[in-house]
Amino acid sequence: MEYNIALVPGDGIGPEIVGSTVKVLEAVSEKFGHVFNFNTYLAGGCAIDKYGEPLPKITIDGCLASDSVLLGAVGGPKWDHLSGNSRPEKALLGLRKELGLYTNLRPASLQPALAESCVLRPDIAAKGFDLMIVRELTGGIYFGNRGRNEAGDTAFDTESYSVMEIERVARRAFEIARKRRRHLTSIDKANVLESSRLWRETVHRLGASEFPDVELDDMYVDNAAMQIIRAPSFFDVIVTSNMFGDILSDEASQVTGSIGLLASASLGDSSRGMYEPIHGSAPDIAGKDLANPIATILSAAMMLRYSFDLNEEADFVEQSVAAVLQDGWRTADIKSPSEESFLTGSQMTEKILYKMKLG
Ligand code: NAD
Repeated sequence: MEYNIALVPGDGIGPEIVGSTVKVLEAVSEKFGHVFNFNTYLAGGCAIDKYGEPLPKITIDGCLASDSVLLGAVGGPKWDHLSGNSRPEKALLGLRKELGLYTNLRPASLQPALAESCVLRPDIAAKGFDLMIVRELTGGIYFGNRGRNEAGDTAFDTESYSVMEIERVARRAFEIARKRRRHLTSIDKANVLESSRLWRETVHRLGASEFPDVELDDMYVDNAAMQIIRAPSFFDVIVTSNMFGDILSDEASQVTGSIGLLASASLGDSSRGMYEPIHGSAPDIAGKDLANPIATILSAAMMLRYSFDLNEEADFVEQSVAAVLQDGWRTADIKSPSEESFLTGSQMTEKILYKMKLG
């Protein structure tokens, strides 16, 4: 099969980690006989420098014409003085909007080889965990009506969800649960919020009519924040609103121990998605070959799985990464404090490519 992939490396370490990931995708194409065509576009600070805006039309058109988008990261101190719509980060919101992406997937799993860097109690970390947070991305309080009174001493933000918005993200979460351990936890605050009560009713109605084979339970968001720390192995797939998902996905990623390992996907109605590491452009290490490429490589594995339905290929990439970590290879961000030596980003990429060659 042939796939067109739009590359949006962005700023800081973005070009380094996207470059590493292209090598991994080329190795996949060699082994499995697919053709990946890559086209590179500017977004973020580098686009401001060249075009005077963070998300030029040429980038939007290129991404819309592709089968999927792989993004590095945007932003950096050079553009920190800019405000509002001129900021590099505006490119992310713009791309999500233009591509119609309303679901965000964030896996958080503990690689067994990295249990020692997990911040949880050792007996909890020893059980391991592998959860997927499915977050609604374009509705709720972040996009609701907001304002201040005339005196400016009272402000409000509105959480509002329609059945259609809840159903489409919940359907995606059920489908993902079906491909995993068939357990979905819907997280809300239905003891207080009316929008959460509609959320809960809608998720249950959908589950009963279309996904009776997936076990569904509910959890209040305050309890979920505790359980992610106390018993993360309870969770398989979580579905939740925009704000709750924003907070819980950051919490879940922190308990895994390294930001340089965590991937994400944003999806809409079509198979085209946007795939990116959860970390930023890390200006402090940009250009030093210190960036861990694994989060971006695992984001590409998600692209293979969720946009191209290439599950065997996605498993192969994920297993190759896990095997390199199992062998004890570490970049600076994931080495234990007592270790002196570590791999550069390009050495880590070579280790993964070598594993793929052997596999
Ligand atoms: P950051 O994620 O870029 O960096 C936080 C820390 O983690 C830094 O010490 C960095 O060196 C380290 N780190 C991040 N990725 C790493 C990797 N792959 N390997 C090794 N270490 C890694 O967050 P920040 O410093 O708050 O933000 C820097 C810039 O990135 C800002 O301009 C911010 O707006 C932007 N940002 C962009 C995105 C995005 O594009 N999706 C997300 C977050 C932040």
